Amino acid sequence: MKNERADQNKTILLYETDGLMTEFDAVVIESGKDEKKGSYVVLDRTAFFPGGGGQQADTGRIQLRDESIHTVGDVYIEGGNVRHSVDTDIPAGEKVRGILDSKIRFLRMQIHGAEHLVSGLIHSTFGYDNAGFHMSDDSAVFDVNGPLSDEDIREIEQRANMIVFENRPVTVSFPTPEEATSIEYRSKLDTYENIRLIEIEGIDVCACCAPHVDSTGRLGVIKITDHEPHRGGMRLTLTAGMSAYDDYAALHDRNARIMEMLSSKRELTDEYVKALYDRMMSLKEENGALKKTLTDTLTESVIDRIGKRESGDVSPEIVFTDCLDPVGLRNLVNECTGAFPGTVCAFLSTEGGFRYIFAVRPENAGTADILSLTADFNKACAGKGGGSAVMTQGTTTADRRDIEAFFLSLKA
Ligand SMILES: [Zn+2]
Repeated sequence: MKNERADQNKTILLYETDGLMTEFDAVVIESGKDEKKGSYVVLDRTAFFPGGGGQQADTGRIQLRDESIHTVGDVYIEGGNVRHSVDTDIPAGEKVRGILDSKIRFLRMQIHGAEHLVSGLIHSTFGYDNAGFHMSDDSAVFDVNGPLSDEDIREIEQRANMIVFENRPVTVSFPTPEEATSIEYRSKLDTYENIRLIEIEGIDVCACCAPHVDSTGRLGVIKITDHEPHRGGMRLTLTAGMSAYDDYAALHDRNARIMEMLSSKRELTDEYVKALYDRMMSLKEENGALKKTLTDTLTESVIDRIGKRESGDVSPEIVFTDCLDPVGLRNLVNECTGAFPGTVCAFLSTEGGFRYIFAVRPENAGTADILSLTADFNKACAGKGGGSAVMTQGTTTADRRDIEAFFLSLKA
């Protein structure tokens, strides 16, 4: 389409009418240094998009007549002109060739165009408008101002893909303010000046400043990867084109790893994982019951041992175990202090030593000074920990023999 527009400095904005142009010849019409961004040039024509409409600015290179190639790190609008940040000073009058980082630009156009198509379908089907839009290089997140069911979203997604396969033209137009007032399009702005419309034939017309592909076929497959209710409407995430392919390939690889681990068929991995999950939950239940039995049995044996003490012997009762978990250890200590006026010192084997709990019944806290006992123990047995007058907890790296020796020394 020949309806070229220019910015204030008369740069013809090639990206506005040809989103697929990745190389172009131009002449430098202004050259300068930006305080923050460094050297820049303004060209008589450019295919570099300065960012906008949710889409990031292009990057690429500029080649000079002497064949030297310089990086275009950023493209932005300043004072109404499209400036290209370059890594060297290039004087005005120089003839240059602009070369875009075309792969990333194309991925962005696929995502952006897919968002136009899906938003257009949602608008024409449900009457909802876009309430927010954020784009990254491989996906777009956008909000619509009304609710959608899972079925609605699947149906919209299927229709969007059919429109991709139909390969409908995507065209750009620049209506005059008078013409714009009578055209139905999304994203109507307050002003009708400088309107640029992107039309997906028969589906959607939307005001937008970003470069677009020229037909829906170039968008590639479209997948809505996430959706959730958001402020009375919906927040949707989509991917498209090459990014959708990459996503599919990554999902395929993950599925293949699950297939290998579970020896499952390709289309049955979810059922295999469900069976595995159910088995895990029932084992967890069984494990809980076994732990309870184990704690009860060990507790009984300790209480039995306490019962056989000589009367008046309230020296600490020492318990070693390697088969309880921390909760079981605590339950055991609680049960045993209920049956014993002295201090119960329980040790649970861990990788580098023991986890310990020292405890005493509250009414005996005055006579059994477990805080001092704990401090002495920590000193003698490389322990760490503390607590209250009724319960202390900690860890030790000492071995069982050293721990037993410590408690024997108390009796001496
Ligand atoms: Zn747009």
